[in-house]
Amino acid sequence: MNVEEFRKYGKEVIDYICEYGSNIEERDVAPTLDPGYLKKLLPADAPQSPESFKDVLEDFEQKIMPGVVHWNHPKFFAYFPSGNSFPSVLGDLLSSAIGSIGFSWASCPAAAELETIVMNWYAKALGLPKAFISDAPGSTGGGALQGSASECVLVSLITARARAINELKGHTSVHDSVFLPNLIAYASREAHSSVEKATKMALVKLRIIDADERGRMRVDLLQQAIQNDVNAGLTPFFVVATVGTTGGCAFDDISEIGKVCRQVSSIWLHVDGAYAGNSFILPEMRVFSAGLEYADSFNTNPNKLLLTNFDASALWVRDVMVLKSALNVNPLYLRHEHINGVDYRHYGIPLSRRFRALKLWFVFRTYGVKGLQEYIRNHMVLAKKFEMLVRKDERFEVRNDVHLGLVCFRMRTGDEPNHLLLAQINHSGRMHMTPAKFNGRYVIRFCVTYEHATEKDILDAWSQIKGFAEEILRDVQLEISSAPTTPETERTSSEPVGPVSGKPPIKKKLTRTKSLRFSFTRSISREQFQSQSEHLMDGCTPILVVDPKTIQQNFQQATEDNQNNNNTKLKDISDVDTDEASN
Ligand code: PLP
Repeated sequence: MNVEEFRKYGKEVIDYICEYGSNIEERDVAPTLDPGYLKKLLPADAPQSPESFKDVLEDFEQKIMPGVVHWNHPKFFAYFPSGNSFPSVLGDLLSSAIGSIGFSWASCPAAAELETIVMNWYAKALGLPKAFISDAPGSTGGGALQGSASECVLVSLITARARAINELKGHTSVHDSVFLPNLIAYASREAHSSVEKATKMALVKLRIIDADERGRMRVDLLQQAIQNDVNAGLTPFFVVATVGTTGGCAFDDISEIGKVCRQVSSIWLHVDGAYAGNSFILPEMRVFSAGLEYADSFNTNPNKLLLTNFDASALWVRDVMVLKSALNVNPLYLRHEHINGVDYRHYGIPLSRRFRALKLWFVFRTYGVKGLQEYIRNHMVLAKKFEMLVRKDERFEVRNDVHLGLVCFRMRTGDEPNHLLLAQINHSGRMHMTPAKFNGRYVIRFCVTYEHATEKDILDAWSQIKGFAEEILRDVQLEISSAPTTPETERTSSEPVGPVSGKPPIKKKLTRTKSLRFSFTRSISREQFQSQSEHLMDGCTPILVVDPKTIQQNFQQATEDNQNNNNTKLKDISDVDTDEASN
């Protein structure tokens, strides 16, 4: 493509993006497709000869777009926001156009220096402790932009592991791996699964600490577990506290956790604020950042709540030297003479790095801290509005403390009608939400994500949710009234089905296929669902056990529970499969 063609098609693509954004509400939020849809539409091999760009764009519209989930749709209430904004898209476009790979200061001085400056702006805007800000007097800390929160957790864990092993081995020449069986990490039941993944990759044990009824790590249990492990000769080396858990946006008490961690010198405290850490840009949210002065590292994703498109996750550490020495390799071909320039390749896993600071700089400059504050406050107000609507309807309940943009709700029934409710919400194509297990209960996560979300979006969504719920509740009542015995296995007296007034009940039985199939997305086969059901149903909860014996016991227990469940709960539900998607 020559420059004139680029100019022509570049303008067309920008026009396309503008049309897409302006008319997005005309599209379904998510498609109804079966896996493999695209394979049927595209050839099995790459073209041998060049094709016209016009044809490529046409195929993009006709074949790719139908398979897109529109994360920037006003009715997208799933996961967390994807953080797109026009300034960040433009910043990213320039970064792609420049194409510099900024692994060292010498490889792109602007990328290295802008990253330092923007990370300090960001830290100051969030009110982080001075120890994380590289230009604060006396600070040994600093930050870097990683690709994802999962990477931030892994990098922090690897750094903590290196520090702990160095302590244990002292001046001996024992191989580092000898100390791995000694090391143990801790995270709450509600922590993100990336913690489990990081410990798996780093070959260290993870102890899951129970959470309280509001989803916060039980600090008393953490303290007890650490003490027990120390007594057993293990080395506690890494604790993850979460501010804004994925399942329910709960905030762990960092101060209390920090005090416990301070008692054991080998512990590195990492605070994961992938989504909610950004909310510390609001002074009124800093009640939840109290205690960050105890943390050795902290991460938050501007690509979740700071209008910056994926990928960008900010990681700060209080001692940059510890981080760099854990990850430092320095072959001759990467060395340069500018020893005062920052080489960000020592701050993370990859050598090559995108110029991510550019898009974040665009965002800070075009919104200003005030604009970003307004955006987050709007999400908070709208989430509160939704919470209020749910709470006013006695057929429903809200299960989490709503501090930010996430509301976890459910009907006051057993889980299956709630699975069905989510399935119908998503099947409609008019809204998109995801499930989670919060404090042991299945919930539907409603997260405000759209940049320009309004009260109307919330009211429309609630009215549609109620519509689906009414039908389901009528079916539930029909099931109960037509059942030979009283099958209230899950419902307690505090959980009424709720008044169902008006129309006569719909003569339709809940089928097993229907109630199981639609949990997470619409087009999932029954086999897939059964093999991954645990994962799909909670979407966030790490389940890790420390030794193989416990794994075996849990496995046996799960198998027994499964059999019991199938024998009791599902035995009256007919197994009618009417949809090809489930085969
Ligand atoms: N930590 C928390 C609390 C999260 O909510 C998430 C994702 O939602 C992650 C970590 C993982 O984020 P990423 O996709 O950037 O790895």
